[in-house]
Amino acid sequence: MMRRCETSRVLMGKLPKGCDLMEELTTICRAEGVRLGKVEALGAVETAQVGYYDQKLKKYTFFTLDGPREILSLVGNVSLKEGEPTIHAHITLSDAAGAAFGGHLAPGTVVFACEYAITVLKGEDLQRGYDEATGLPLWEDE
Ligand code: ZN
Repeated sequence: MMRRCETSRVLMGKLPKGCDLMEELTTICRAEGVRLGKVEALGAVETAQVGYYDQKLKKYTFFTLDGPREILSLVGNVSLKEGEPTIHAHITLSDAAGAAFGGHLAPGTVVFACEYAITVLKGEDLQRGYDEATGLPLWEDE
């Protein structure tokens, strides 16, 4: 499956210190009526909560990367899950030595400073639904 989309607009801004990264980006998307889009961000976190999907067990394991880290990269997308705009994002973080860690971004990641850009796309809705082969809520074929 594939969608051909056009860029509608780009939302750029910074997030407040102490907010939850995932929740704040989701709130912005829902408030702005973003149903389809791309998300990118950089900055720093006070602590992070990320997931790793175990392909055999078909289950996420979540872990905490505690302490200050740079957000080297956050990439994600916006689509619909149960009719609601939902962000799927992955994040790469670095420590004081420059060592990088990352994973599937989860709630519980606390912003120190963050600059984001959300590219709002025009196109048919993309809905997530349960995918038997992977156990993940992937985009549904039509
Ligand atoms: Zn993921």
